[in-house]
Amino acid sequence: MVGGLSVNDIRLQGIGMTSRRTRERLINRLREQGICDEHVLKIIQETPRHIFIDEALSHRAYEDTALPIGFNQTISQPYIVARMTEVLLSNSPLKRVLEIGTGSGYQTSVLAQLVEQVFSVERIKPLQDKAKERMRQMGLRNVHLQHSDGGMGWPSKAPFDAILVTAAPEQVPEDLLIQLAIGGHIVIPVGQGQQQLKLITRCSETEYDTRIIENVNFVPLLAGTIR
Ligand code: SAH
Repeated sequence: MVGGLSVNDIRLQGIGMTSRRTRERLINRLREQGICDEHVLKIIQETPRHIFIDEALSHRAYEDTALPIGFNQTISQPYIVARMTEVLLSNSPLKRVLEIGTGSGYQTSVLAQLVEQVFSVERIKPLQDKAKERMRQMGLRNVHLQHSDGGMGWPSKAPFDAILVTAAPEQVPEDLLIQLAIGGHIVIPVGQGQQQLKLITRCSETEYDTRIIENVNFVPLLAGTIR
């Protein structure tokens, strides 16, 4: 303990390039780019993105850019995390949210501070293990992680009020459409090469409405799992 703070508190708080001031600059940039949901901005400002990446890169944690997290994967760009979360929350309050592609767990932790329960699946086990440890450090108890192929969703926990996908399939997986509650939203990047971020709303048992949000660049949604 130092001045009433534990080592974990100090790590979450950050110093120098990971400090409060650096985070404020990021929030200003997100505002300039059109993010206007104050809840989302506040949570992004308070979330220690530096604990979600390797220490060697932590000085770049509050740059508005995707960064490598190993296994050919990346932690999403803060702008994209903010945008997807803002779009998803347009239907709030949300109780049960499914995330496909836990990755570092950064987007998961942002969501977990804004909705009741987050269910997140990841196909690469070592990434999931690290994400689990970070959820523990942050004291987030409303996150449920599973190691599986997210193209199939998480059927035993369905229906979900919203689904957020952080890797791009060529087409929207049918299983995800089925596991969405009526009135719910899916936010998902779709396509090979040029990808589009889509907002799909389930209007009834059989009808879905699709809107295109913007062009994006995600890693591909891949089938199968890695131990
Ligand atoms: N939101 C994450 C983004 C990670 S990149 C973050 O901010 O860190 C996308 C992640 O999706 C990768 O970790 C990748 O392994 C995972 N992924 C790709 N295809 C998947 C699938 N079929 N099921 C589950 N996860 C998948």
